[in-house]
Amino acid sequence: MARHISIVLKLSDAIRDLRSLKHPGLDSLSAQLSLEAANALDDLSGLLKDRDSIRGVKSRAEILRGGNKTQLATEIANLDEQELLVFCGDLTTWLGKSRETHFSSFFAVPDHAHQRMADNADAMLPQAFQELRLMVDDQLHLTSTCRFKITNLIATAGEANLYPKHFAYFLPEDEGVKYAERKRTVVFMNTYLALFELISLEESRRRISVSDGALRTSEIGKYLIAWFRGHDVGHSVMRQETDFRAVSKVDRWASMVLQEVLADVFGFLLCSTRTWQTGLSLDSSILAEIYAFEMLRYLRRAPRDFPDAGAAFVQLQYLIDHGYATFDADTGKISLSSADMLGGMTMLAKDLSQSVLSGDVVATMAFASRYCPHLNAAALDKMSAFLGRSTRTLDYIQPIYESGESSAK
Ligand SMILES: [Zn+2]
Repeated sequence: MARHISIVLKLSDAIRDLRSLKHPGLDSLSAQLSLEAANALDDLSGLLKDRDSIRGVKSRAEILRGGNKTQLATEIANLDEQELLVFCGDLTTWLGKSRETHFSSFFAVPDHAHQRMADNADAMLPQAFQELRLMVDDQLHLTSTCRFKITNLIATAGEANLYPKHFAYFLPEDEGVKYAERKRTVVFMNTYLALFELISLEESRRRISVSDGALRTSEIGKYLIAWFRGHDVGHSVMRQETDFRAVSKVDRWASMVLQEVLADVFGFLLCSTRTWQTGLSLDSSILAEIYAFEMLRYLRRAPRDFPDAGAAFVQLQYLIDHGYATFDADTGKISLSSADMLGGMTMLAKDLSQSVLSGDVVATMAFASRYCPHLNAAALDKMSAFLGRSTRTLDYIQPIYESGESSAK
């Protein structure tokens, strides 16, 4: 398998680079390389045993050969691969880096332990959501939520292997198929954990502290998954009047940033419900600490260029503005307690429910001009001077990349 994967990786890098030249004379060459990738995927599918994994790989090959992408990509989103999950084709990247799709491939294996946790959270979601309504606004309702597939990344190439690394893709939307009937978020758990352990934990705790935090490193995965599932669900929390298009017309960037804030905050609050805390054995103080560290990791990644980094800025600014978090001159850190975090997030959720989710454009823009980084440069400059820019990024060492050259490796 490694040999076939290695071929797909190399072809993906070549296609991604060739296309970036935007030279019409090279189109036929990159088309030819895509067909080679399709052949390598077919060879790979012959070595798999799991039905859905085979189906997924074969469908990817079909798309590369010009098959009906909307139909095939939607079918793939409905699979539940137990052996290998493969992507090979055009994929979006970070908004703010490029709005185009770029050729990418990734190979991932299912993470059964974290999947069980996420499935557990889903099973308890109706009850947890009722609690959330009581905490924030009884007019909130949940529109359809999409599936969550948790994997560990084993190989990647093309745009997906560039920077910053993605730990999740929303498919098939991220491959350019909008409004598909079936959707799922594919999470790379090992990347997500590495981001937390090598960046959030290393950098953030120098700048923020949760007074009652008691982080146990062995449990981080559980919290990350619970919150991220909550964030995903959070994108589907609405009110009857909710219509993001009205705000988008006035300020598209503000609309995108605020939608990420809503998802973040609802994700945090779902993790704070008694239902999820009991059912998933979550502790409020550990949750607050992990959330604070992640908030800073996002924030330091250029809040004006990435909606989720902008969203982190909004939340921290809001917590400070309302006295839930303070600058501590002695330690040089922002400090708060887990109770402050919960109080601040609940208030923020109520504020946004009354403005953004209620379709009140005037109130939304008043909020945005105070907290969104692209509309409040002075606050952003002050925060950036305090936090500094992140100096770390993940990189992958992939021995599998060279396995095409020697079968002994
Ligand atoms: Zn989001």
